[in-house]
Amino acid sequence: MVSGKKCRCESCKLSVNVVGTPPPTVCPYCRTILEQSDLEFPIAEPYPAPTEEEVRGRIKSLYHQPHKGNVILLAVIAVTMLASAVFLQLRNAENYGSSRFIEKII
Ligand SMILES: [Zn+2]
Repeated sequence: MVSGKKCRCESCKLSVNVVGTPPPTVCPYCRTILEQSDLEFPIAEPYPAPTEEEVRGRIKSLYHQPHKGNVILLAVIAVTMLASAVFLQLRNAENYGSSRFIEKII
């Protein structure tokens, strides 16, 4: 059981439960003297700490390592796409100078 003080302000209908520290004497809002009464309530049951296996299971379900082959395949595809985009851009830049003549001919 935990014992403390229950402080109540009648005008504000404010109720404060205080444990472990000295209770306030006046209401923080209207500055009237608080009514104090003794308070006792049971301590809550401590939540059971998860075991190491439970923690490992949760981490495994949240984060899983992708297959290395898939990672390498994705990296190769990404690098190939980027390289082809750069190559096509450079080829466009090379042809940019003659594109004005082509438009004039047409
Ligand atoms: Zn008050």
